[in-house]
Amino acid sequence: MSKTAITVAYGDGIGPEIMHATLHVLQEAGAQLDIDPIEIGQSVYARGVSSGIEPEAWDSLRRTRIFLKAPITTPQGGGFKSLNVTIRKSLGLYANVRPCVAYAPFVRTRHPQMDVVIVRENEEDLYAGIEHRQTDEVMQCLKLISRPGCEKIVRYAFEYARANGRKKVTCFTKDNIMKLTDGLFHKVFDEIAVGYPDIQREHLIVDIGAAKLADTPEAFDVIVTPNLYGDILSDVAAQIAGSVGMAGSANIGEHGAMFEAIHGSAPSIAGQNIANPSGLLLAAVMMLAHIGQGEVATRIHNAWLCAIEEGVHTPDIFTEGFSSVTAGTREFAEAVVARLGSEPRTLQPVSYASTKKGIEMGTLVTRRPAAKKDLVGVDVFLHWRDGSPDDLGARLSLASAEKLGLTMITNRGVKVWPNGLPETFCTDHWRCRFLGKGDAIGHSDIIGLLQRIEALNLDFIKCENLCNFDGEPGFALGQGQ
Ligand code: NAD
Repeated sequence: MSKTAITVAYGDGIGPEIMHATLHVLQEAGAQLDIDPIEIGQSVYARGVSSGIEPEAWDSLRRTRIFLKAPITTPQGGGFKSLNVTIRKSLGLYANVRPCVAYAPFVRTRHPQMDVVIVRENEEDLYAGIEHRQTDEVMQCLKLISRPGCEKIVRYAFEYARANGRKKVTCFTKDNIMKLTDGLFHKVFDEIAVGYPDIQREHLIVDIGAAKLADTPEAFDVIVTPNLYGDILSDVAAQIAGSVGMAGSANIGEHGAMFEAIHGSAPSIAGQNIANPSGLLLAAVMMLAHIGQGEVATRIHNAWLCAIEEGVHTPDIFTEGFSSVTAGTREFAEAVVARLGSEPRTLQPVSYASTKKGIEMGTLVTRRPAAKKDLVGVDVFLHWRDGSPDDLGARLSLASAEKLGLTMITNRGVKVWPNGLPETFCTDHWRCRFLGKGDAIGHSDIIGLLQRIEALNLDFIKCENLCNFDGEPGFALGQGQ
């Protein structure tokens, strides 16, 4: 078998020790890899590179397109961007696949039947990182959800389910509140599910879905969800399956893939040979299957299952009565190597032998013709703290004109004018909705309105155009409107 070039980063904290352990097992198992090591993370940030990654590392990633990555430490505070998010987004790794499996009765868990795969959208949502301080009191983070982004991740979830013999895909959103953004995710889920009649589908609001996942995870199979919910829930799922130290993940894109443990760099236990290398090792198993070395992946995964069921456990999963040997990071890797070629006796053996190289995705995104877009109004946001909502309403009404009239003011989304409640707490951030009075309006009407607001000496911080798309409003109502 010819060697596959991969890029490897040893990472920070426990990263180097779990990466050495993982690569040792891969080598002993006969993985055919041509490894290109790169430096990313803490040492690069320390050189003043705010992205944590230098051009040569990007060259390697663009050349190999396969990345095995140990966790890195993200510096706290402003001025630094998360390297993980940068890599995922720059390489277009839109699907984050996180299997969370219980290994009962060998690893303590309250959910012995649990076998859930979380497919998390990886590029959009609140992780677009577009944040602004708008007033003295208010910060804003933009939540961006695109139709192509939803189509890619939902289609991937169904294709993954089909390729891996899974029976059901559950979608989690909060579309009872975020009707446009999460509403789009849910709508696309329903549309795409129709093409997979062999797979059951369900949708749950994320709050009750999360409660059910924590309580009866065995009721779930594949879960597809936007970025933030997926990030949180996959940690919960990994932890209740046994340990956050045991779950690997794949970040899959059209032009490359990155494989990593779901946990972080755990600096408090670094350098002590006690970290569990299983998360990274299982990520490496996913990588081997992805690059077509399914037989090696099978050997490693089964040897790992043998070590787990024989009670060879790192301290994070060591429990009296379940475990027989406390193993350090290196000793655990040796225990896996010693079992290469064996199959587990109680746990279910795995096989990747027939797994196709990657998942054939076909058409990822169907671009639709542009909708008929009509500008019907504008929301103008103000920084203001000089009185009551009625004071602001009276003053701002002076800016209304024949084409655009003030119809509503909200504070943090709650309608406070006209006819607001005196009990509503108001901060210094106001959304003032002006709607067209019948005639078509254009950008120049909005510019005129902003000039009149400026003349009233009011501080506008931004405006959002209100449009109908094919006659449907492309904006939410105010709470209480
Ligand atoms: P963490 O996952 O590093 O640690 C959480 C807890 O789990 C700690 O108690 C830790 O000791 C334990 N733990 C984690 N991995 C373990 C393992 N393999 N074996 C045994 N115990 C393990 O999360 P954190 O403390 O929130 O973050 C630490 C740093 O890691 C931060 O700088 C964070 O930004 C970074 N981080 C990086 C990644 C990544 O590179 N993909 C992911 C998450 C967090």
